[in-house]
Amino acid sequence: MSEIRDVQPDSEIDTLIRPQALETFSGQDKIVDNLRVFIKAAIMRDESLDHVLLHGPPGLGKTTLANIISNELGVSMKVTSGPVLDKPGDLAGLLTTLSEGDVLFIDEIHRLSPVVEEYLYSAMEDYKIDIMLDKGASARTVQIKLAPFTLVGATTRSGLLTSPLRARFGIQCHLQYYDAVTLKKIILRAATILDVQIDEKAAIEIAGRSRGTPRIANSLLRRVRDFAMVTGNGIIDLKVTKYALDALDIDKKGLDNMDNRVLSTIIHKFGGGPVGLTTIATAVGEDSGTIEEVYEPFLIQEGFIKRTPRGREATPLAYEHLGVAYNKVEQQELL
Ligand code: ADP
Repeated sequence: MSEIRDVQPDSEIDTLIRPQALETFSGQDKIVDNLRVFIKAAIMRDESLDHVLLHGPPGLGKTTLANIISNELGVSMKVTSGPVLDKPGDLAGLLTTLSEGDVLFIDEIHRLSPVVEEYLYSAMEDYKIDIMLDKGASARTVQIKLAPFTLVGATTRSGLLTSPLRARFGIQCHLQYYDAVTLKKIILRAATILDVQIDEKAAIEIAGRSRGTPRIANSLLRRVRDFAMVTGNGIIDLKVTKYALDALDIDKKGLDNMDNRVLSTIIHKFGGGPVGLTTIATAVGEDSGTIEEVYEPFLIQEGFIKRTPRGREATPLAYEHLGVAYNKVEQQELL
């Protein structure tokens, strides 16, 4: 490994391993296939691509896809985020710098202020914005024409998007958690870019402990690489991987701290459930929408909790994971 590579900060490594084309973006097959068609059609018609909404939990590739969309279209991309755009003037300033066909990426679009959102409607629909000049008696509005552009909005909380805003996105993509096979592929690709040798078994182990999330997979790979360099010969094998992941307290099933708190709350405080979502949220001190859209989908997908008409219930797998004896059946029989 070269000296230069060793001193690269994580942010630079991020840029290096972020896929730049649809071809190198693994998983989310349906989304990728559809985007390929829409992008090709927009290029053939010489039009800007319809506005795209990407929603799904953090770290699944929304920013990466926005970047790829602008690369594939061969246009520039301006990046901002919902909370940063707090005045209509900020939005107008950005929109007027866009050239024809460019991409404007707004991350956390559910956090736009309502007044900025209003301005965005006409910008998205008719490529114009009305700007208010002066105040009081001399107040007047000026209409500014914009170059046709593509808005790519990303959100972890699609439930918070207003329906008028959501309706203005012609293309809506819901990103799903990645399976272990796809994550393994992502890890092997990143390892090649980082110029580090890794065993297939080690890649599978990291994949299984990454919470279905490429961002976590990549960051675990980097931490395991540190252990391999310092305690071994720099090669990532299964032994050093297990040692590193245990030293880092990475959960065997890839669950994070909040996942475990949700499970523990259902089991220890509410007898395994069923318990309502808002009650769980209050008990763990998190917003119920975030639990529902960010944490719960993974816990359900992996079979740790199930949704019932009366609330959320912990499954035997959740008991096993927390090392608690499963006596739910007996409890139910006693009732
Ligand atoms: P989000 O915007 O959804 O939070 P990002 O696009 O920032 O997620 O992705 C997080 C990291 O995971 C990036 O560094 C990127 O390199 C990697 N990544 C995400 N999706 C993929 C993918 N499908 N294939 C390879 N790497 C990916």
